[in-house]
Amino acid sequence: MMFPAVSIDDAAARQWDMIIAGSSFSAMFFLRGLPPGLDVLVIEKGRHIPHGEQLETGFRNLEDIPQDNSSDHEKDWVFHSLLGGNSNCWWACSPRFHPNDFRMATLYGIGDDWPVTYDDLLPFYEEVEQTMAVNGGGSDAVLPRRGPFPHPAHLPTRSDKKLRAHSDMWWAQPSARANGGNRAQCCANGICDRCPIDSKFTILNTADQFTYPGAHLLLESEVRATRIEAGRATGVMVQAGGQDREISASAVALGANAVFNAAILMRSGLDHPDLGRGLNEQLARSVVVDGPGLGYFGGTSITGHGYALYDGAHRTRHSGVLMEVFNAPAALRTDPGKWTERMRIKLIVEDLPQDENRVVLDDDEPRILWTGHHPYAWDGLDWGMREIPNILPDDLTMVAYSPPVTSEKHAMGTHRFGTDPARHITDDLHRVHGVSGLYALGSGAFPTTSPANPSLTISALALRAGRAVT
Ligand SMILES: Cc1cc2nc3c(=O)[nH]c(=O)nc-3n(C[C@H](O)[C@H](O)[C@H](O)COP(=O)(O)OP(=O)(O)OC[C@H]3O[C@@H](n4cnc5c(N)ncnc54)[C@H](O)[C@@H]3O)c2cc1C
Ligand code: SF4
Repeated sequence: MMFPAVSIDDAAARQWDMIIAGSSFSAMFFLRGLPPGLDVLVIEKGRHIPHGEQLETGFRNLEDIPQDNSSDHEKDWVFHSLLGGNSNCWWACSPRFHPNDFRMATLYGIGDDWPVTYDDLLPFYEEVEQTMAVNGGGSDAVLPRRGPFPHPAHLPTRSDKKLRAHSDMWWAQPSARANGGNRAQCCANGICDRCPIDSKFTILNTADQFTYPGAHLLLESEVRATRIEAGRATGVMVQAGGQDREISASAVALGANAVFNAAILMRSGLDHPDLGRGLNEQLARSVVVDGPGLGYFGGTSITGHGYALYDGAHRTRHSGVLMEVFNAPAALRTDPGKWTERMRIKLIVEDLPQDENRVVLDDDEPRILWTGHHPYAWDGLDWGMREIPNILPDDLTMVAYSPPVTSEKHAMGTHRFGTDPARHITDDLHRVHGVSGLYALGSGAFPTTSPANPSLTISALALRAGRAVT
């Protein structure tokens, strides 16, 4: 166990300096950033399911959130309630956001600028990368760094080598699938949501990086609401074992993710008109490409990144596109002698927050109202599909493509941050405007999305917020 466990009776009998709801990326990096000497209670809704039990039973406590989906596409949202949250099942793709992702309004007239910049986040990105033992290389010209990655990039596949020889906009995907450090070496078997050798970073297998003297853990207890008195967070209302209890604290941080944070804030009486609105998620599609010189056998599951279609003036009209190069496609080629001359590339585009896509409370439980991705995302995906032949070597041919993948499992945007309390729920340090001592962590804060995976940025922002607590 990460911290000494307490019973609900013991937790309710004490006054805590800080209560943190959740135990995944946002909660644990916030905890890591806190100044020493606080009495902290981490309240986790799920139970502790050790890695071995997850492998044996497949059980991870998937949430089933009711949804009204009026879009033309299936849509699911994947949240697991257990100690360590979705860090147990993520794929550990760990890119930083692009510096221009933080300035979409200024540069492209899209959405809102972020209240933080890439440079503000640099030291926190660095610490998170060290903590997760991220590997990578070759991306510095676009995603500037002050030093090398903690670990070198995984071995490229033959396909990666061919792409990198063709253009300097292809490089190794930064990942927390181990290539050096204390965890087992990633061996590229490609079932990363259930890594059999516990190679990718999870909160559970890196618990030594989140020790905090004075922290205690209350498991199988759901934070329902924050108690707010005279404009201050003074504790939480918790449901555990069929009982409702109150636990007192001087401050409360919500790290329960974009959907549950919004529900908790609504139950706490926050009536900001934008709270819960703007739920969004990236959209993707895969293409299969054949040609001479392609081949697999690199060092991890997703070996490459392509940024040629990511940033530029096109983002005034439609989304940018991030490309991921997979180690192997689903099927071999059947042409004699050319079985492995095939590559799978996934195109991922950013969505935009829309008011109609939202979390509401229905009988006091979260319900998702989903009307579909913004045309900005769909147009970006169509554009990417048209452009991809132009950026590949001439001797490669696109032979197949998948239907759109409408869930990238990265919910964002329900309590967006910024400087204007009339439009934003929190400030740049995740502090809820108008309520002192209340934090809403995680990607619910993102005012615009990015084509890139969010968890490194979620963690860097949470670490920065924790460090600012006095
Ligand atoms: C299959 C899959 C693959 C993914 N791959 C990647 C990837 O490669 N790269 C990437 O960047 N991202 C990836 N993601 C997304 C990533 O998992 C999320 O961005 C990340 O987990 C969000 O972290 P979080 O701490 O905000 O929330 P979560 O990880 O969702 O954790 C929320 C925590 O809060 C707890 N909780 C919820 N409600 C309450 C409550 N009321 N009271 C107390 N506790 C509560 C939950 O049990 C959980 O522990 C993937 C997601 C999935 C599902
Ligand atoms: S590729 Fe295999 S070893 Fe590497 S993280 Fe994924 S499942 Fe684990």
